[in-house]
Amino acid sequence: MKCRVRFGRLLATFRSHPMKHLFTAILAFSLFSSAFAAGKKSIVMIAGKPSHGPGQHEHNAGIQLLKKCLEQGAADQVDIKFHLNGEWPSQEELSAADTVVIYSDGGGGHPALQGDRLAQLDKEMKRGCGFLTLHYAVEPTIEKGGKEFIDWMGGCFEINWSVNPHWDANFKELPTHPISSGVKPFGTNDEWYFYMRFRPNMQGVTPILSDVAPDSTMSRPDGAHSGNPTVRESVKNKEKQHVAWACERADGGRGFGFTGGHYHKGWANDDQRKLVLNAILWTAKAKIPADGVASSVTEDDMKANLDLKPGQGLPEKPKPAAKAK
Ligand SMILES: [Zn+2]
Repeated sequence: MKCRVRFGRLLATFRSHPMKHLFTAILAFSLFSSAFAAGKKSIVMIAGKPSHGPGQHEHNAGIQLLKKCLEQGAADQVDIKFHLNGEWPSQEELSAADTVVIYSDGGGGHPALQGDRLAQLDKEMKRGCGFLTLHYAVEPTIEKGGKEFIDWMGGCFEINWSVNPHWDANFKELPTHPISSGVKPFGTNDEWYFYMRFRPNMQGVTPILSDVAPDSTMSRPDGAHSGNPTVRESVKNKEKQHVAWACERADGGRGFGFTGGHYHKGWANDDQRKLVLNAILWTAKAKIPADGVASSVTEDDMKANLDLKPGQGLPEKPKPAAKAK
């Protein structure tokens, strides 16, 4: 009987305050929606400042192109925040990130090496946040970042060990790995760095793109980025060189390194682009579509957001006049 009384009261309340219930319904719906949005993976993308000539190291255009493509092929899975010209995300944003993607120059000027940013990132890596670097961003310094990058993504460029020649790489086969989903064998000319400093015995590291580097890659004299006796021996022995790799950390976090991306036009290659888009999802622990992330780019897309440079929106620099002897 008590139940009936309570139900009767409830019904009476509903009849007397229908608006309250409308608000309740709206509240429930918005909570459901936010829960759904919370199910999306948070991708934080950081583009470095311009540094090279037209069409090269187009970090700002590249990051925005990859963002657009990821939203084309995986809109229901990702919520993307992006930063241009080396701008660093807030602590709040980092603490919510499922993966951090960096496409920038490296060495001492690497955005992740400034101030206490390595410590900021380390905090997020320890809770399983992903870490993905593109091209020059695979290179920290030995003194700062080397240890962390190897922890977070399994390997990194190390001076006097790794090299940065331009060459035609042909990736004739890809491993069975979620990052390879829908990616066909491909080849491009790029500044494909190789001979990274990997973890001992490649622990937790899976090479994704590999090829035998031609002798031409060793045509330069020894130097911090150009050659050393160890890499010369490896090239002479026709060992496969890894230019992209995936890493699973003991703490469950995932990393990915990709050494191509010197030329902006490389992103017009459907297989290169799909591989990197898949890798972004993989490091964020999002589900990769069976045939990989589908996206297409137009000529206009490829021209969008390019940095202003001489010959690219700015006048060419006049050639210096010949000096009088
Ligand atoms: Zn480059």
